[in-house]
Amino acid sequence: MKPRPFDYLRPDTVEEAVALLAEYGEEARVLAGGQSLVPMLNLRIVEAEALIDISRITALDVIRDHGQTIEIGAVVTQNKLMAWPQLQQKLPLVAAALPHVGHFQTRNKGTVCGSIAHADPSSELPLALAVLGGEVVLTSKRGTRVLAAQDFQKDMLTTARAADELIAAVRFPVANGSGIERGVGFREVARRHGDFAIVAVAAVVQDQKTLRLGVGGMAGRPMVRQIPAAAAADAIAAWADALEGYEDLHASAAMRRDLFRNLAPLAVAAATGERGGQV
Ligand SMILES: Cc1cc2nc3c(=O)[nH]c(=O)nc-3n(C[C@H](O)[C@H](O)[C@H](O)COP(=O)(O)OP(=O)(O)OC[C@H]3O[C@@H](n4cnc5c(N)ncnc54)[C@H](O)[C@@H]3O)c2cc1C
Repeated sequence: MKPRPFDYLRPDTVEEAVALLAEYGEEARVLAGGQSLVPMLNLRIVEAEALIDISRITALDVIRDHGQTIEIGAVVTQNKLMAWPQLQQKLPLVAAALPHVGHFQTRNKGTVCGSIAHADPSSELPLALAVLGGEVVLTSKRGTRVLAAQDFQKDMLTTARAADELIAAVRFPVANGSGIERGVGFREVARRHGDFAIVAVAAVVQDQKTLRLGVGGMAGRPMVRQIPAAAAADAIAAWADALEGYEDLHASAAMRRDLFRNLAPLAVAAATGERGGQV
């Protein structure tokens, strides 16, 4: 299938982009890397009067180190972030998750913010943002607001973004100094490498007593819990029993729960094992 006709607009600045979003409102779609949007347009799952291509807005093609957070601008591709020399040291969970996001070719175009904006419940980057307690920076002609990741993603492909808002950036908290606090673990099962995860699990050592554990592919959005490091196995078992899961053509709800039961201990072991250990 082919998409229905649309206007193609390519602003050079954030101001122009938000002015266009204000003008077109619900009728417009932001085009970032197009790796999710273009297939959805072709299949007519999504229709738009106008596509606002932000890929030439150089002001958004930046990775900023704010000390406690790393801010990734809306035009930064997944491969650009993967090649950032400080990624492993500052954002070890993101470094562990990124190789699972699609393929080299899709990561060349696909943006970090586009993945967060798309809000697929199986996506690796929204899971990493949620587990780390990151933030989404939304800008419009009305001003700028910052939402916590858990307040941003509402459900499957559904976010708190208003139609006139551009995601200008996302902010990932940096790893917490040296030692065990830097421990992270990431595990997923997908049909083939590069496919969306059926279930993905991310673990971060928050402090010596507490872990943050997150799971994607289990509900409409990533789910995150704090669990005690000393009783992680019991906490995982209890959570696995409580998870509802969902069924689609890839897996039953029971299989998803089973994957979580098996992946979560591995992610936790990676996080609490070797210094900065990750999978
Ligand atoms: C073969 C293949 C395999 C893939 N495998 C995976 C995978 O394993 N894991 C995974 O997570 N993803 C996967 N993807 C999706 C890929 O990661 C996309 O890059 C990502 O989902 C969207 O990023 P994008 O920049 O291409 O956004 P686009 O496709 O351009 O946009 C996606 C959506 O987000 C909106 N949007 C984008 N940027 C903004 C912004 N700054 N402000 C407001 N709205 C915005 C768009 O309007 C659209 O609704 C795969 C894609 C392909 C083609």
